[in-house]
Amino acid sequence: MTFNALVVEKDADSGKTTAAVQALAETDLPDAEVTVAVEYSTVNYKDGLCIGPGGGLVRRYPHVPGIDFAGTVEASDDARYKPGDKVVLTGWRVGEAHWGGYAQKARVRADWLVPLPDGLDTRAAMAVGTAGLTAMLAVMALQDHGLTPDKGPVLVTGAAGGVGSVAVAILSNLGFEVAAVTGRPEQEGYLRDLGATQIVPRAELTEVTRKPLEGEQWAGCVDAVAGAMLGRVLKQVKYGGSVAAIGLAGGAAIEGALITPFILRGVNLLGIDSVMQPYDARLRAWARIASDLPMDRLEAMVQPATLSDLPRLGAEILKGQVKGRVVVDVN
Ligand code: NDP
Repeated sequence: MTFNALVVEKDADSGKTTAAVQALAETDLPDAEVTVAVEYSTVNYKDGLCIGPGGGLVRRYPHVPGIDFAGTVEASDDARYKPGDKVVLTGWRVGEAHWGGYAQKARVRADWLVPLPDGLDTRAAMAVGTAGLTAMLAVMALQDHGLTPDKGPVLVTGAAGGVGSVAVAILSNLGFEVAAVTGRPEQEGYLRDLGATQIVPRAELTEVTRKPLEGEQWAGCVDAVAGAMLGRVLKQVKYGGSVAAIGLAGGAAIEGALITPFILRGVNLLGIDSVMQPYDARLRAWARIASDLPMDRLEAMVQPATLSDLPRLGAEILKGQVKGRVVVDVN
């Protein structure tokens, strides 16, 4: 019995990697407690790296990427899971250091799984994926730091991307006024359909300035970009507001950042990690996703794909060309 998987191989001489769909045997799977019949996976920025040259994330080749998957438990040596259970997995370095979800079967540690929350099927769970979980964690962190709709508009950067799209939809559904930063003006209609009421052109926030502060505009921000944009946004956040920093699509530095927003306006910079989130926090976030993310808006973000589309999609996400969320039907 074989199953299909996207396998990345590395040429020992040239160091070049190639990704192609191959048939694998169950005996090829790594040792772990739970075998899952994967139904859907997705494409995140990190997947782009792992489908391609690896970005230092992949430890061993041949490798099966896919940092997220959802499916049905087929066999389990752990009392928490039994055959037939619907499960979702994000993070824990699955798809990087461990074989991931770009396959019809995966074998993983029981600790890494989360039971599918009521109200979400496996396809919807992958329309959410790591990107959506991260967006939810960011919104929860902003709310924990006092963000409420009456405080003013919330900015979402990298808005047409995966994390940004879900953040726009959740915030809008919760009654926030949402301003979306995008470098793709052609995505304005898409972002307004998700619930954005204001579109901010990326170019307005890419110039590095040495100004200590700018006019107070945003009650909060979900930032997927960092770089010059985060340096500027911090200076525009209202007194006592917070920025949830989730990504680095525009660079790993915070360019032009000064201490002034923190010490003169009490601005908070909140770091968000989805990979190593403890189990209970994951359960809370998935329950909030099931209640706070409207399914019709989630569906509007989805671009369907199959295993053989992944080499192309991996390259596209690294260039910032993927809109919203890709859902990969591995079967
Ligand atoms: P996407 O590629 O889907 O979205 C990123 C978006 O950022 C793009 O769509 C684009 O939006 C914008 N962007 C891209 N390049 C630039 C640039 N040079 N300058 C300004 N904006 C840019 O990726 P994801 O949404 O999946 O991930 C976003 C970031 O979050 C990545 O850095 C990723 O590694 C990180 N991440 C972190 C997680 C965590 O746990 N903290 C979890 C998941 C992701 P637009 O076209 O609208 O301008």
